[in-house]
Formats: sequence, structure tokens, C-alpha cells
Amino acid sequence: MYQARFRVENELAVITGGGRGIGLACAAALGEAGARLVIIEMDEQVGHAGREELAVKGYDAEFLAGDVTSSARMTEIADLLATQGRPASILVNNAGIGHSGVSSEDVSDEQWLRMMDVNVNGVFWCSRAFGRHMIAARRGAIVNLGSMSGTICNRPQPQTPYNVSKAAVHHMTRSMAAEWAQHGVRVNAVAPTYIETPMVMANPDNRDRIGIWLHDTPMGRLGQTHEVASAVLFLASDAASLITGAVVPVDGGFTCW
Ligand code: NDP
Repeated sequence: MYQARFRVENELAVITGGGRGIGLACAAALGEAGARLVIIEMDEQVGHAGREELAVKGYDAEFLAGDVTSSARMTEIADLLATQGRPASILVNNAGIGHSGVSSEDVSDEQWLRMMDVNVNGVFWCSRAFGRHMIAARRGAIVNLGSMSGTICNRPQPQTPYNVSKAAVHHMTRSMAAEWAQHGVRVNAVAPTYIETPMVMANPDNRDRIGIWLHDTPMGRLGQTHEVASAVLFLASDAASLITGAVVPVDGGFTCW
């Protein structure tokens, strides 16, 4: 009985930014648990590469090009899938950008607005677009990629815009969960620590920071993408049927200290 509740057999799962990093791991986890997959990516090359990587693992994913900052495009995709008779029942709002190392007094208007546009507006546009169809179907699960940065202030690097954007995602999670519980739609988030993805590892400035991060982490290590994907799968599945409005730390204990 219990193992079956972790399956998402034939559910249509949409994963934004599902072509690489944490999003790709989430797609693989959901695929392994039986979901049909649609990944949304801004960059066609990343989208196709992600789809191919999933195919090698045996999961048949569809790639749709789209920028989550486009409310119109997100609505178009959600409506298209519903019109085709396969509305999404799982949405993973994973697409996001990270930017750090700029003190608040030096953050430009453009940097601030871009962060909010992708990390906050993007999550709202997608949740609203796909959520409407979930409400109509009276079932669905949304899992947002928050961050421990929505709770703590990272050090040594300043990153106020990112931290604020993730705090907004956490509260959007709780607000929508409270509104949509009556419609059978659950909304949760995961709040990871530093995960070994291109977002973190490709930034040369992070090489000097990693020692401090590990010192601040009870488990003394960075996370892996599959460790986030496992929590996302759990929240998306019926195994989490009584859980909504939760922001689940996936952080090696970072937020304990
Ligand atoms: P990556 O940069 O590795 O992957 C993010 C993906 O999202 C990329 O494929 C990227 O596309 C895509 N994307 C970015 N902007 C848009 C957009 N406007 N529309 C559509 N797709 C977009 O990031 P991670 O895998 O590391 O992070 C995934 C999520 O997890 C983010 O929300 C992040 O904030 C969160 N997170 C990450 C942590 C980490 O340590 N890595 C820790 C805590 C939270 P492209 O390749 O074209 O840029």
C-alpha cells in the first residue's frame, strides 16, 4: 500500500527549467515513478539535451520552449495541454536564476527586476496558468523550488534579491495552499541548501566560499540534485496527501544552526 502511494502513474508532470540541474533530476524522479513528462525550457539546446538525457534513462519527455516570465506563453502551454485532453496534474516550478556577490547598495534596478521576474513572477504565472486547470479537475500538486535562502541570510556572499525572491516563493506556497486546498490542489515547496549544479559550481567566486558553507552545515557537505528530486517526488505524490503549505528543508541541517 505504501510504495504505491509514492507512484505518480500516468500523471502529467510539467517541470519548468527541466532541461538541466535540479529540474532534470526532478523530471527523472517523476519519470521513474510513472509520470508522463513535459519540460519547459527557455533555451532550445538545453531543452533538447534534457529530453535526450531523459530518453537514455527510458523516460519519454516532451520539450516545449517557453520563458516562465511570459505569462501569455505559460497560459498558452497550460491551455494547450488541457485542450489536448491531458491537463497537467503535477507542476514543478523549478526554473530560477541565482545571482550573488553584489551588496544591496550596488544592486542595479535591472538586477533586482530580473530576479523578481524569473523567480517570483515566473512561479506565479505558471501556478496560476496550470492551477486553473487543476482546480477545474479538482486535483493537482504543485511543488515550488524555494531555498534555504528564503529563511536565512547566506554568508559570506551578499544576495538580497535572491533571498527575497525565495522568501516570496515560500509565502506564495503557503498562500496558494490555503486558497486551493478546498479545490483539491496541494501546494508545497522544498528549500534546498547549496546543490552541486551549474548554478553553483559554474561561478568561480564560489570556490572560496564553499569552505565557509560547509563549516555552516551540520552534515558538512553540499547536496546532490537527486536528493532534492526525492523530496519533490514525495510532495508531488499521494504519499504527501495530507501535506500542503509546507516548505520542506533539504539542507543537511543548515537551518538548524
Ligand atoms: P540551473 O541554473 O542549473 O538550472 C535552472 C534551469 O532553469 C536552467 O535550465 C535554466 O535555463 C532554466 N531557466 C532559467 N530561467 C528561465 C526562464 N525564465 N524560463 C524558463 N527556464 C528558465 O539551476 P539549479 O538546477 O541549480 O536550480 C533550480 C532551482 O532550484 C532554482 O529555482 C534555484 O533557485 C533553486 N535552488 C538551487 C539551489 C542550488 O544550490 N543549485 C539551492 C536552492 C534552490 P537556461 O539553461 O537557459 O539558463
